[in-house]
Amino acid sequence: MENDKVRIHDKNFKIFITRDEIKARVNEMGWEVTKKYKDLKPVFVPILNGSFMFAADFVRACHFDSDMMFVKVKSYEGMSSTGNIKWELGFSGHIKGRHIIIVEDIIDSGNTLKNFIEEIKEEEPASVAIVSLLLKPDAIKHDIPMDYIGFRIPNAFVVGYGLDYDDFGRTLPDIYQLDED
Ligand code: 5GP
Ligand code: MG
Repeated sequence: MENDKVRIHDKNFKIFITRDEIKARVNEMGWEVTKKYKDLKPVFVPILNGSFMFAADFVRACHFDSDMMFVKVKSYEGMSSTGNIKWELGFSGHIKGRHIIIVEDIIDSGNTLKNFIEEIKEEEPASVAIVSLLLKPDAIKHDIPMDYIGFRIPNAFVVGYGLDYDDFGRTLPDIYQLDED
């Protein structure tokens, strides 16, 4: 059973999406993706660190043969929309001709994904789709394909289920929202 309120580091958070709600939605998303990918043997590419928990649940909600290769943001050189993002790729040479499903925890401005889509297209995949558990529709700044979205949420900071606040809160099984009161 989840707690209604948690204190993480120096801030208060309140329950926002429970583990049961996450599980139900992840299962729905899995079946939806299964319809399209069941004969394609796609490669899941989770963007670390935030998506580790979602990715682990999501691949088990998908009912087809697949592979998984991780990527990590190595450094942001300025977080502006033109910011130079560097990637630590774990898959050189294994992407060409494969169907890619990028797995994200949350899409905020869309900077990270816009940059990564450009990066991964250089590996000549057969196709690229995006699965994100969360999307903040009011924050998005780029026109990026959003194929499968779990929950559309308001522009408030969230933690838990892989998402961190300064490296804290990642292991919480539920998602919490910053409590400003
Ligand atoms: P974007 O590049 O789309 O602006 O942001 C993407 C990344 O910012 C996400 O993958 C996530 O790591 C981080 N982020 C954006 N919004 C939130 C939030 O509300 N909570 C947490 N913990 N991370 C966020
Ligand atoms: Mg992330």
